[in-house]
Amino acid sequence: MKLSHSFTKTLRDAPKDESARSAQYLIRAGFVHKELAGVYDYLPLGLRTLNKVENIIREELDKIGCEEVRMSALQSPDTWKKTGRWSDQKVDIWFKTELSAGGELGLAPTHEEPMTNMLKTYIKSYKDLPLYVYQFQTKFRNELRAKSGIMRTREFLMKDLYSFSADEDSHNNFYHKVEDAYKTIYQRVGLGDCTYQTFASGGIFSKFSHEFQTEIPVGEDTIYYNKDKSIVLNEEVKLPEVLEELGVQEEDLESTRAAEVGNIFTLKYKYSEPLGLTFNDQAGKEQTVFMGCYGIGVSRVMGVVAEKYADDKGLVWPEEIAPYYMYIIPIGEEGTKIATELEAQFPDLILLDDRNMRPGEKFADADLMGIPHRIVISDKTLAEEKVEQTYRQTGEQKLLTLNDLTAILSGYEKDH
Ligand code: ATP
Ligand code: MG
Repeated sequence: MKLSHSFTKTLRDAPKDESARSAQYLIRAGFVHKELAGVYDYLPLGLRTLNKVENIIREELDKIGCEEVRMSALQSPDTWKKTGRWSDQKVDIWFKTELSAGGELGLAPTHEEPMTNMLKTYIKSYKDLPLYVYQFQTKFRNELRAKSGIMRTREFLMKDLYSFSADEDSHNNFYHKVEDAYKTIYQRVGLGDCTYQTFASGGIFSKFSHEFQTEIPVGEDTIYYNKDKSIVLNEEVKLPEVLEELGVQEEDLESTRAAEVGNIFTLKYKYSEPLGLTFNDQAGKEQTVFMGCYGIGVSRVMGVVAEKYADDKGLVWPEEIAPYYMYIIPIGEEGTKIATELEAQFPDLILLDDRNMRPGEKFADADLMGIPHRIVISDKTLAEEKVEQTYRQTGEQKLLTLNDLTAILSGYEKDH
């Protein structure tokens, strides 16, 4: 990609009402544009990162047998009335609207009800189970306070997965597969070392649900952990009887701030019963489908990674979700010729800064955007047949030959 072709520009200032540094950098670097409080547009660079997070999740869910759909964002009140959740008292973040033909509609805050209802058309017999259906979709929530840039917004991208099983054993088997898939996902997006599976409330069936919480100072939640972090729990479950059950002492727990990046729930019959999602078992007897649901905040994950790794110069992306792998700054005629050829060969890996600007400004923008590898191809180092590589995360520098550079790019392309 040639930077001169993009309509976005880096900005000197971020809106004054953005306090999170990730939000300031994402706006200044041209990853997102703030539409209004809690509502953001994803620009070319930001969309590439968001898509990469999405793709990692998709790959890991497809590996455990999930099927992707995309359901509508406009929702019928009828289904929600059957579970009692159309009520603004029960669900306090609804965006609702009226049809000009008369009647109300809801803007999807989540999809348990419509998903359960849809599956009634397709689940008839035990032979149809188990089923695992997921989507990436925009959710709308009238959050009282939008916070921390793209980490808490009123419109956001969620991955929501729903499992439909014949019984508890079959459900548990899949639940554990999702736990493992989530660990791989957080590892791949760069949050492996600081994301913990926590005990959380809200378990309808088992005592707990589980959340995946990333340790981060701006996190809205407080989590508690023992020394080796083998047991981590949310504040709301830090009760004497729970601590006893988990075999931990209150005085052995330390607290830290964290952001919820995902969760997994055993729903049991919470939605299948009121909505009448049943199947005929082997004996021909009608049974209620056993359900689970599993969320990941895709756009929140992007915000958390941005926040976690940013430094005083700007964003720092892990390779797997960086919009590009390399940022190339050519200096001089020969450098420009070589850089242009490389970009033509690897347009998906290289962001070529071919703008008519001073090198100093380009260095600052490269740092702000946080592309993992910066390459300077200047006539000066070319005299020794070398180019200069700087690793954004550590500032480590190396001189490479042009052959090395091409080999690195080909190698990366082959592996991704
Ligand atoms: P929270 O406690 O943060 O409000 P939640 O319990 O309401 O989250 P779910 O309804 O289970 O979350 O949504 C699944 C995931 O979507 C969450 O784990 C989180 O990562 C993300 N998410 C929830 N609300 C928002 C929001 N307003 N903006 C961005 N991401 C969100
Ligand atoms: Mg919420």
